[in-house]
Amino acid sequence: MYSFLTHLECTNCGEQYPTDKLITTCPACGKVLYARYDLAAAAKEMTKEALIGRPWNLWRYHEIMPVQDPANALTLGEGGTAVLSTPRLGKHFGFDKLFVKDEGRNPTGSFKSRGLASAVSRAKELGVSAVSIPSAGNAAAAMSAYAANGGLDAYVFMPEDAPAVMKAECVTYGAKVYLVKGLINDAGKIGKIGCDARGWFDVSTLKEPYRAEGKKTMGLELAEQLGWRVPDAIIYPTGGGTGIVGMWKAFDELEQMGLIGSKRPKMIVVQAENCAPIVRAFERGERFAEPWQGAHTVAPGIRVPGAIGDYLILDSVRQSGGTCIAVSDDEILEGVRELASKEGIYSSPEVGAIVMAAKNLRASGFLKQDDETVLFATGAGIKHTELVDFDFAVLDPNDPNVLDAIDRAYA
Ligand SMILES: *Cc1c(COP(=O)(O)O)cnc(C)c1O
Ligand SMILES: [Zn+2]
Repeated sequence: MYSFLTHLECTNCGEQYPTDKLITTCPACGKVLYARYDLAAAAKEMTKEALIGRPWNLWRYHEIMPVQDPANALTLGEGGTAVLSTPRLGKHFGFDKLFVKDEGRNPTGSFKSRGLASAVSRAKELGVSAVSIPSAGNAAAAMSAYAANGGLDAYVFMPEDAPAVMKAECVTYGAKVYLVKGLINDAGKIGKIGCDARGWFDVSTLKEPYRAEGKKTMGLELAEQLGWRVPDAIIYPTGGGTGIVGMWKAFDELEQMGLIGSKRPKMIVVQAENCAPIVRAFERGERFAEPWQGAHTVAPGIRVPGAIGDYLILDSVRQSGGTCIAVSDDEILEGVRELASKEGIYSSPEVGAIVMAAKNLRASGFLKQDDETVLFATGAGIKHTELVDFDFAVLDPNDPNVLDAIDRAYA
């Protein structure tokens, strides 16, 4: 059997639902649904040995992915991203074992390709012909790419100030792109009006059960890449939180399948100082996060004022002994430069946030020198032309004193 998907289960009220029909959130309580599998049966097929010969894409772990028919499993080669050792940055911050999982090398330049490959594939399998998304940029680009790949129509609702490259990607993939005055939650409201009236399927974060399954593969892969074990800490830039909750779900499934033990990494949520609803709820000891008013940050992927999966994010952080931390926009930009200049990894602003969170958590002693720590570098820097604003020296080939000009420029 290709997939051992059995049913959907509400993460809040526990109600169960069949998988043969299109579904969004829990019809009983409105909260997040999770895909559930016959893990005992899946474990007999998805063994360590069976995995060895499989391609490194999302469908490597098809037994515990939702798509039933391999013909519907869309792929652009997402996943299988490198776990890079970053000893120069590690030494600088005081870590013996610091790693970066480089999600920027996914097909659409961010880890969003995992979630949308899964959601669009499964939507197609259930008969959807048009998908819609509110997005800060990366999710829209990923949805548009997989919709094109699967022959579905794509409708995208983005904040007006979304990065130019991401708008261009969506248009070029053939999506219908609409800019919205406001933030991602405003884009979500308008997208919903379109979905309700036109019958497009909404693939918003955690508002359907299958995007999280794609994100889950980050956890599956990391465990396999480390030789079937987990690190001491995972640091993750958190917006809607699908990545955090997806990985947390992955580790549970791997344990139930006998592929890893009961150890869990400390799950560490990083947000921006001026958009930190999860950090605030964590500090207040709350399970649900009040929406953040007046959110702003240079990191679009984490400019998410409210998350439907807030309780799932906070549960995983607390159960893991992790923490939630906010950093400033200046730190975010510094973090991008640190990772690029010390390790040669040019990442998106969201990644700058986790780099500086690692530094701060090491300095505070929350993380120890020998804690094996993995930074999830969720996006590529090359998508962010809006951050490129340098004052270069311009040299004249006829200038007899060109060497002076060269020296002066960086004096
Ligand atoms: C969307 C996004 C995030 C936030 O991811 P969630 O899983 O929704 O919390 C982080 N980084 C980048 C680059 C993103 O595009
Ligand atoms: Zn429910």
